Amino acid sequence: MTGLGLLGLCAVIAAFGYLLMTMATRNLLEAEARIDASRWSAYLKANLKDLPEITEGAALGSTPRMTIDPTMTGGHVISFKVYDARGFLKLQSNEGTSANLIGRHITQVDPGFAGALAEGSSGTLLSETRIGGQEQVNFVASSLMPIESNGIRVGWLLVNLDQTERQQLFTRITAQVSAAICILLLAAPIFGFWYRTRSKAEMQRTIDDMSKRDYLTGFAKKSVLLEKIDGHFRTTDASSERCALILCELSGAAAIAGTHGQHTEELVIRAAAARISDIVAGRATIATAGHASFLVYLDKASDPMMALSLAKDITLALSAETLIEGRKVSCRCHSGIALSGSDGNTANQLMRCAELAVLSVREQGEPGYGFYDPEQAKNSNRRIAIKRAVAEATEQRRFRLDFQPVYNIRTGELNGFEALIRLHDEELGQVSPAEFIPIAEEIGLINQIGAWALDEACRVAVQWPAHLMVAVNLSPSQFMSGTLVSDVRRALENNQYPSYRLEVEITEGTLMNDSEVVLRQLRILRDMGIAVALDDFGTGYSSLGYLWKFPFSKLKIDRSFINALDESASAKGILRSIVKLGHGLGLTVTAEGIENSRQLSTLRDLGCDLAQGYLLDRPARVADLAAIILRNFANGLSRRVREQDSKKTAA
Ligand code: C2E
Ligand code: MG
Ligand code: MG
Repeated sequence: MTGLGLLGLCAVIAAFGYLLMTMATRNLLEAEARIDASRWSAYLKANLKDLPEITEGAALGSTPRMTIDPTMTGGHVISFKVYDARGFLKLQSNEGTSANLIGRHITQVDPGFAGALAEGSSGTLLSETRIGGQEQVNFVASSLMPIESNGIRVGWLLVNLDQTERQQLFTRITAQVSAAICILLLAAPIFGFWYRTRSKAEMQRTIDDMSKRDYLTGFAKKSVLLEKIDGHFRTTDASSERCALILCELSGAAAIAGTHGQHTEELVIRAAAARISDIVAGRATIATAGHASFLVYLDKASDPMMALSLAKDITLALSAETLIEGRKVSCRCHSGIALSGSDGNTANQLMRCAELAVLSVREQGEPGYGFYDPEQAKNSNRRIAIKRAVAEATEQRRFRLDFQPVYNIRTGELNGFEALIRLHDEELGQVSPAEFIPIAEEIGLINQIGAWALDEACRVAVQWPAHLMVAVNLSPSQFMSGTLVSDVRRALENNQYPSYRLEVEITEGTLMNDSEVVLRQLRILRDMGIAVALDDFGTGYSSLGYLWKFPFSKLKIDRSFINALDESASAKGILRSIVKLGHGLGLTVTAEGIENSRQLSTLRDLGCDLAQGYLLDRPARVADLAAIILRNFANGLSRRVREQDSKKTAA
């Protein structure tokens, strides 16, 4: 309802209220008049013993006058009349303050009596009249009371009562109550309107605050700080006052979430924020720069060493072990510093340089800190572009899966396909998964991408003949997220794809960190009927212990060993050992990256089971898979016909 509508409603309610109050006042006045009249008539009957006689025409003695007069002077009773039973006036007092009773013997029915009688035997009439010719209009109530003698009605007593004061009092009260109701009714919507406006403003403030402040750390968000920096550039001479922006990125927090849960990760980030606050101690402005990364802004950094020392303190503090809920956890911090003037004169330029500086530091592996260096940053520029491309592709679901066939090395029959992810970016062109997958891990998007790849692979593979497998690569971070098993389950269920036709490929690197967590999930996957392959075998950490510990079903020999066949004499011996080892453990052995027929025949001779490589087929688009499957089916048929023929000839 609009404000105007509400006001209208209030006015109607107020008018109705006023009407009710006026009626109530009238009723009250009548009731009061009746009570007064009956009291007074009782008094009169008690003191005017000859009242029944008067109704019959008896004269009035002098004593009653002395009794009655004082009760009328200054009282409510203005006048009274006595009628006989038929309504003939027998006695009438004077109007006014004193009651000089006059006896009258009229032979007609008095009109006042008739009016009063019409109201009922004890009716009360309210009227406005002037008493004693005064200017003031009085409010008079006329009450008619019966006069009885020995239980028989012998006449009537009409008492006129001055109700002016009461009427004024009641009208005043009515007006005041009505005004109060009006004020209340008006105040309610005004208060409601005010309250709604205030709540809205409060909500808006909360929303604004939420959009400006990071809920986890309480620090301002990046955009707020960047605005502040730009403001600083606008108001001060950048050449005279140098400022510094430090970006501190914490890595390892996402892995903590996977191992110990998101709650622990949040506590780690909070603890890191508290440490930064302590170190900065009001000397600089702090903001968050995204998930587990912070910005520290020094608006006066005439000596760049100040910024360096601050970055060092923060990096060391954030890389130190922390005790969170009784558990020791550690992260790595990399910090990059950008200085105004040399590195840029806008907040965005400083931000970009600080990001590039962090990337350069990160490439050195260990926790560290450093200034932005344009030379080192050249490399990092591509990484930043890939980060952007990966983030965009994830949001817009722009990835694609290609499928590379895997063949039985002895029969040449198609065994299945390996799903290989593809990213095409307008600016960067085709980006290799070997390059963008680690970046996707770094920026925390690998789980989303991985879940999509699982679902897409099952969606495509469910349309193939039932004996063909699909293999999906998993990255180490997917095991740390805690959602891998449910992602796999969802992919199978969504596509009605049988688990025994799914294979997951992991690399030796996956087994390095927290192998217990990985092992637990691998066992669940294996129990679901999913095959687990060890990919790129031989390139990793050369510890064979995990081969016994983990529930693998397949070993994929890295293509570097296959390549080496062409160059090194010892390569064949190494490959023979690997195949033997795999078979010894009951695993199927696949050779990856077969590029020529010499490699193929050597591996066949060595007893390898499956083959994959450009010689046989390159990764193909989904649209081309049907042709590959059909070709393989036809090849299989003609081979079988040939085999049958040669058997017959031999016989
Ligand atoms: P990978 O799992 O070892 O996949 C085999 C890689 O070798 C593929 O490279 C494939 O195109 C390439 N390859 C196959 N045959 C030959 C050959 O005869 N010669 C040569 N030179 N290369 C051959 P790609 O597609 O660039 O993938 C690179 C790596 O990226 C993969 O190695 C895998 O570790 C990773 N990757 C690919 N797709 C995914 C994915 O969906 N998720 C994850 N986490 N990683 C993926
Ligand atoms: Mg693979
Ligand atoms: Mg491989």
